[in-house]
Amino acid sequence: MNNTVLAMLRCPVCATSMQITEDGRSCKCQGTRTHSYDFARSGYLNLTRPGDGEGDLKEAVNARKLFLSAGYYEPLSNEINTILQNLNAKTVLDAGCGEGYYTNRMANDRAVLGVDLSRAGIDSAAKQAKQNVTGAAFAVGSIFSIPVRDETCDAVTNLFAPCCEEEFSRVLKNGGYLILVGAGERHLMGLKQVLYENPYLNPGRADLPTQMVEVERRRLTYTVTVEGNETIEALFSMTPYYWRTSESDRIKLQNIDTLQTELDFDIFIYKKGD
Ligand SMILES: [Zn+2]
Repeated sequence: MNNTVLAMLRCPVCATSMQITEDGRSCKCQGTRTHSYDFARSGYLNLTRPGDGEGDLKEAVNARKLFLSAGYYEPLSNEINTILQNLNAKTVLDAGCGEGYYTNRMANDRAVLGVDLSRAGIDSAAKQAKQNVTGAAFAVGSIFSIPVRDETCDAVTNLFAPCCEEEFSRVLKNGGYLILVGAGERHLMGLKQVLYENPYLNPGRADLPTQMVEVERRRLTYTVTVEGNETIEALFSMTPYYWRTSESDRIKLQNIDTLQTELDFDIFIYKKGD
């Protein structure tokens, strides 16, 4: 874990800053009662607290990895990196980073900490970081109680994960930016046209910040042809429709090997302070 990321961390129990132990195998806090956290084999820290809950399980993580590694969302990842570059963000928290696809791609030019409740997701993300030697580091933790010190981040990214404005604002430096991504109204329309007789438009994010200042919103749209039934099923499993689609609609995907669909992303940029 690099020093810039380490300096962002705080103890999830007593909120004091953290230090790597001499043997390099764990982190300990500076509190009067020292709390200690061992690095996992893949290099992440578990900074959850009792009651934080559980994130995605391995099966969901693997499906996302399969789909994302095919590169269909790469233009979105590139767009986020361009925004971070333009904002000159050197220290970034990716809140709700999942299996770290975007996080690791952000980390070539900056220090990025990915936090997510999914242990399977974080383990996979950390393994990827190790392999590609990116500036990313990962911790299992809740984005509703982030194990990060106040005012340490130039930017917080929040891609398809719940928004917790209070916490994001707390960890941002004054003048720092929050970048939110959600599904645009025509996102995955091609997929929905296969599944449903009358596909509706997506409603857009309902959890946008109310205290921070919106400085920009942009839309990224393009069309892709997803190849291979396994990849199409993996994409489907990442969507909220996966849980609401009836068995009779679900089987419509079974015999499809290519799927042309629009991708439509809403990107919101908020600023802390004036
Ligand atoms: Zn502590």
